[in-house]
Amino acid sequence: MIDFSPPAHVQTAVGDIKRFIADDIRPMERELADYLTNEHLYLQADGRLAPPILAAQRTIRKMSAERGLYALHMPTEVGGGGFSLTDMFFVHEAVYQHGIGLSQWMLSWTEGPNQMQMWLSEEQKQRYLLPLVRGEQTAAYAITEYRGGSDVLGMQTRAERRGDGWSLNGTKAYITNAQYADQIFVCALTEPDKGSAGATAFIVENDAPGLSIGRTYRTIMDDGMTGELIFDDCRVPLDNTWGREGQGFYLSMGMINWIRVRRGGMCSGLGQYLLDRCIDYTKNRQAFGGPLSRFQALQWMMVDSYLDVQAMRSMALHSLWTADQGNLWALKVDPQLIQTVCGLKVFCDEALYRVADRAVQLHGAYGLSKDSGIEKIFRIARNLRIPGGTDEIQRVNIAKALGL
Ligand SMILES: Cc1cc2nc3c(=O)[nH]c(=O)nc-3n(C[C@H](O)[C@H](O)[C@H](O)COP(=O)(O)OP(=O)(O)OC[C@H]3O[C@@H](n4cnc5c(N)ncnc54)[C@H](O)[C@@H]3O)c2cc1C
Repeated sequence: MIDFSPPAHVQTAVGDIKRFIADDIRPMERELADYLTNEHLYLQADGRLAPPILAAQRTIRKMSAERGLYALHMPTEVGGGGFSLTDMFFVHEAVYQHGIGLSQWMLSWTEGPNQMQMWLSEEQKQRYLLPLVRGEQTAAYAITEYRGGSDVLGMQTRAERRGDGWSLNGTKAYITNAQYADQIFVCALTEPDKGSAGATAFIVENDAPGLSIGRTYRTIMDDGMTGELIFDDCRVPLDNTWGREGQGFYLSMGMINWIRVRRGGMCSGLGQYLLDRCIDYTKNRQAFGGPLSRFQALQWMMVDSYLDVQAMRSMALHSLWTADQGNLWALKVDPQLIQTVCGLKVFCDEALYRVADRAVQLHGAYGLSKDSGIEKIFRIARNLRIPGGTDEIQRVNIAKALGL
C-alpha cells in the first residue's frame, strides 16, 4: 500500500518552514508592504527589482540555506537535504499555502541548484554548484530564443571552438533571473545537423567577455525577473562545458522537468490559500441582508475550487511518487515518466488557473484590486501555463507516450 502521509523528516521541515515564515519573513513583508503592493515601487524604471526587494530576496535565500531549507531537494553529498520528489511536494505546499509575498524565495526556484547539476564534474560542482546550495550565488537557465521556444532545437545560438576555448554567439530571450545571475547555463548548437545530439551546454560566468544583459521584459506578472542575454563572441573556457559535447538538449530537458515537478505543491498550496481566502471573504461580506456565502451559486464555485485542490493533491502525489520510482535526472528519460510529469504540470497549472479565476470573481472589485493580492495570484497562475513548456507542449508529450 502507498502511504502518502508526510514522513517525520518532512513534518520537521514543514514545521521549520512555518516558523521561518512567521518569525522572520512576515516581519520583512510588513516592513516592505508598500513595495509589495505597488509595482511602481516594486520595480525600478528599467523594469528591474527595486534594491530593497532584491536585498530581501538575498537575505531570505541565505537564511533559508543556513537553516538547511533552501536545497532540501538536492542530494546530501552536495549539502542538500536528500528529500524525494514526494517529500518536496509537502515542502512546496507548505510555502505556497502562505500565498505570494517574499516567502517563495526561501526555496530554490529557477535561480537555485537543481539535480541536473549532478552532471557537472567534481571540480565544477565545487566551483558552481556548492555556492548555489549555500544560497551565496544564483543561476539562470538560458534555453529559449526568439526563434526557438517550444521548438527548442530551432535555436540559433552557436558555439564554436576558438583558440583555447569556445565562442558563443546568439541571443537568449525570456530568461528568469538573467539580470541578477552569477552563473548562466547556456544551451547552444555545436553541430546543428545532428538534431538533439547537436547541442551542448555551457556554464558562463556573468562577467564573461562578450556577454551582455539586454532588456528586462514587462510581463503579465511584472515581477522584474525576466530578461534577455546577448552573446557576442562570448568567450568560455574549454572545460566549462556542462556534461559532454552533444548532451546540451538532454540537460536542458532535465532542467525543464525540474520546473514541471515543482508545480504540484506550488499549485495546490496556492489553490488552498485562495480557497481559504474565498471562504473567509464570502462569510464576512454582507449583501442583500446576509453573508454572501449563503448563496448556492457562490458555494458551488468554492466547492469546485475544493475539488480542484483535492484533485491537484492526488494527481501530484501519485505522479511524484511514480517519478521517485524512476530516474527523472537521467539524460534520456523513459517516455512514460515524461508523460507523468507533463500530466502533473498541465493538470495542476490549469486547475490553479480555474481556482484563481473563481477567487477573483468571488471577491468582486476587491479581487481585481492590487490591495487584495488575489489578482496577483491570478496573473501568476496565467503565466504558469507558458514557461516550463506550454499546456500544448505537455499534451504533445503525453500524446507521444500514448503512441499517437
Ligand atoms: C515569465 C517567463 C519566464 C521564463 N523563464 C525562462 C527561463 O528561465 N529559461 C528559458 O530558457 N526560457 C524561459 N521562458 C521561456 C518559456 O520557456 C517559453 O516562453 C515557452 O517554452 C514557450 O515558447 P514560446 O514563448 O516561444 O512560444 P511558442 O513556442 O512560439 O508557442 C506559441 C504557441 O504555439 C503553441 N505551440 C507551439 N508548438 C506547438 C506544437 N508543436 N503543438 C501545439 N502547439 C504548439 C504553444 O503552446 C503556444 O500556445 C520563460 C517565459 C516566461 C513567460
